[in-house]
Amino acid sequence: MRLSRAFLPTLKETPAEAQIVSHRLMLRAGLVRQTSAGIYAWLPAGLRVLRKVGQIVREEQDRAGAQEILMPTIQSADLWRESGRYDDYGKEMLRITDRGERDMLFGPTNEEMVTDLFKSYARSYRDLPRNLYHIQWKFRDEVRPRFGVMRGREFLMKDAYSFDLTPEAAAHSYRQMFVAYLRTFARMGLKAIPMQADTGPIGGNLSHEFIILAETGESQVYLHRDLLAFDALAEAPNYDGDLKPLMDFWTSRYAATDEKHDEAAWNAIPAEHQVSARGIEVGHIFYFGTKYSKAMGLSVAGPDGAQVIPEMGSYGIGVSRLVGALIEANHDEAGIKWPDAVAPWPAVVINLKQGDAACDALCERMYAAIPDALYDDRGERAGAKFADADLLGHPWQVVVGPRGAAAGRVELKRRATGEKLELSPEDALAKIL
Ligand code: ATP
Ligand code: MG
Ligand code: MG
Ligand code: MG
Repeated sequence: MRLSRAFLPTLKETPAEAQIVSHRLMLRAGLVRQTSAGIYAWLPAGLRVLRKVGQIVREEQDRAGAQEILMPTIQSADLWRESGRYDDYGKEMLRITDRGERDMLFGPTNEEMVTDLFKSYARSYRDLPRNLYHIQWKFRDEVRPRFGVMRGREFLMKDAYSFDLTPEAAAHSYRQMFVAYLRTFARMGLKAIPMQADTGPIGGNLSHEFIILAETGESQVYLHRDLLAFDALAEAPNYDGDLKPLMDFWTSRYAATDEKHDEAAWNAIPAEHQVSARGIEVGHIFYFGTKYSKAMGLSVAGPDGAQVIPEMGSYGIGVSRLVGALIEANHDEAGIKWPDAVAPWPAVVINLKQGDAACDALCERMYAAIPDALYDDRGERAGAKFADADLLGHPWQVVVGPRGAAAGRVELKRRATGEKLELSPEDALAKIL
């Protein structure tokens, strides 16, 4: 993509409404634009990141055995009347009436719809286990939409739903998602810690929130320092094998949000290992047994012919929230520092003297050699080009000036570390590719 033709609107001023750094940078770098309170249009650079985040989520869901579907955003209120949640959900639900005076709603989540859908096909225990997920826009009429896409009203969520024959089998499905989540966030370069979360009426201990530590986080969390050193990508999991040891390892150290905080267990941890911090909830997994299957009449014939009500769980990831969370975790005064895995473009080629034959030729050559690169071919000052490159946070900057071009050298800057190297074009390419 050539910057001279790109739609990459950056802002010089810091938007007044943005209270936290990720929101400020998303607006300044032209990733999103608010169209109504808590509702955003995604511009080219932001959309690229959103898609990359979604793709990592998708790959790890697939690897864990979940299957992608796509359910609609608009749902019938009747489904929610079956589960009893139509009245319970309250004002966070955006309610709509169609021309036939039927009550509809913009889905805040999909337990009812997926249970109804699965019910249409599942007949026997052979149809279990199954895990179905989609990546779809949700709407929740939040009281205080804020922090940009971190707490939007319309937001992109991955939600998966598991169906199992027994509570033991459901626990295995739960562990598959637990492990998939560890890998998903780690692949984005994020340290998301699984923490005990409230299970509501079901009880037990099968609910975890995945939380990234950040000063601007909305949750207060408490954890054992060891967890920050655990490596989620250390081993490739066998999703068909016993995942209990791996999950036990991750839950062997104390980690809880406010609601589940246990002073006695906390005080038993040596002070130097206690970490009390703010955190951002990026994922939440939940086992809820037969709550929806029972209410909505889902049952299958068991091995002995008797009807069995499937055990269910649901598993959410805030895909659009993650874009903000990634910036909270990766930025400096000058702008964003995208991890390679989610960067909108891997590199930008910066031409310091547009129109200089040697500069233009070397830039074109570098631009052609780096797949999906961005080329700053605008007739702007060098300072403006550097500032935009730092703001947009491309992992690599390939800087070509007249002196270097004459000598066959480029300057390669690594955004994450600030490190700069004078290299031959070939050596620069070898580093990037
Ligand atoms: P929160 O506590 O932040 O309100 P939640 O517990 O209500 O989130 P869940 O129902 O667990 O959210 O939804 C799954 C995931 O969807 C959350 O972990 C979060 O990452 C994301 N999410 C929820 N609400 C929003 C929102 N308003 N904007 C962006 N992402 C959201
Ligand atoms: Mg909420
Ligand atoms: Mg929550
Ligand atoms: Mg939650």
